[in-house]
Amino acid sequence: MALIVQKYGGTSVGTPERIKNVARRVAKFKAQGHDIVVVVSAMSGETNRLIALAKEIQANPDPRELDVIVSTGEQVTIGLLAMALKEQGVDAKSYTGGQVKILTDSTHTKARIQSIDDEAMRADLNAGRVVIVAGFQGVDPEGNITTLGRGGSDTSGVALAAALKADECQIYTDVDGVYTTDPRVVPEAKKLKTITFEEMLEMASLGSKVLQIRSVEFAGKYNVKLRVLSSFQEEGEGTLITFEEDPNMEKPVVSGIAFNRDEARINVTGVPDKPGIAYQILGPVSDANIDVDMIIQNVGKDGTTDFSFTVPKPDLARTIKVLEGVQAHIGAAQIDGDDKICKISIVGVGMRSHVGVAATMFRTLAEEGINIQMISTSEIKISVIVDEKYLELAVRVLHKAFGLDKG
Ligand code: ADP
Ligand code: ASP
Ligand code: MG
Repeated sequence: MALIVQKYGGTSVGTPERIKNVARRVAKFKAQGHDIVVVVSAMSGETNRLIALAKEIQANPDPRELDVIVSTGEQVTIGLLAMALKEQGVDAKSYTGGQVKILTDSTHTKARIQSIDDEAMRADLNAGRVVIVAGFQGVDPEGNITTLGRGGSDTSGVALAAALKADECQIYTDVDGVYTTDPRVVPEAKKLKTITFEEMLEMASLGSKVLQIRSVEFAGKYNVKLRVLSSFQEEGEGTLITFEEDPNMEKPVVSGIAFNRDEARINVTGVPDKPGIAYQILGPVSDANIDVDMIIQNVGKDGTTDFSFTVPKPDLARTIKVLEGVQAHIGAAQIDGDDKICKISIVGVGMRSHVGVAATMFRTLAEEGINIQMISTSEIKISVIVDEKYLELAVRVLHKAFGLDKG
């Protein structure tokens, strides 16, 4: 007998029929004698609908009230799933984040979990009930409803598994595991039996939304056994996120390709090439709470230089405004932005011990006539910024060039 936390994403609970299917799956595990805690997302499309609704009233929604609104999506699903289980003769009880007491900080719309009270859940499990918890939401010390950022139910699932010291956290979604790249973009993508935490962290942070990055961080920190599986298939082992590389497996140099359409590039041209210029440009951006990702400063010529960096797409207009406010002070000739870009990254722990990976990547893109606008590297990843119209082509040719289609 084990304690299992199962998280079901939006598509998996997208219709009443699918909710009944989830209930059947949960009932099956329960009948095998396991204790089950289920975490659910809002029905697919619901969170987007609620955000759009909020924006009809307030173009720039008040974050506290937005959390009040978007957290209702998950509240509907927990009630429906509890009913579906009861209909199947399984005792179950639903909890909102606040009812569990999933305590978070007060950063509305991207709050961080600080602690979880497991007492009430344990009492229910001991009484033989299935516990159903709303994903994506918590409550701050003042009792305000908070949410954990898009895709946050993954993090709720893993955090609950950590708090309950569960034997396994199973993330059920609409694909049957983690693939070499998004199988919706590259049909030849191969499912991975295992992926290391390190690689999964990179994949998630570079745009693979199959797991929210914080859920992977949590699992690594608290040693949670984490698995990604399909909610639509009865059988299958999915993908296990592992702490160690499997010594028996021949590791490919590149394990996966991630991409992200959510960044925009800012160019600040003709700035004086002198000490402190990066700080003068990025200081005000950081003060405005805008996250900067890739940064390039060109070699100066004739006493001036150009500076480029990327920010989240929704922050593009605000970043330009902030910079225009300090343009005269910086002495920049021009400030402009481009939101028609995307970031493509190759990831693999095997890159540590291999040379020539970057060359293969750049040659492959060059052969397709794809211009690279920015590059950044770390020990186990290389990212490039290219025109967004090349996204699918670039991912496909790189997937092939690194032999990922051969599985
Ligand atoms: P859920 O609603 O279950 O949380 P998401 O839509 O958030 O599901 O995440 C699952 C999706 O992640 C898949 O449908 C797939 O398109 C996408 N995805 C992106 N990269 C990968 C990858 N490397 N492996 C598997 N799925 C991926
Ligand atoms: N419903 C939330 C979202 O759409 C959380 C989640 O699905 O994980 O982002
Ligand atoms: Mg998700």
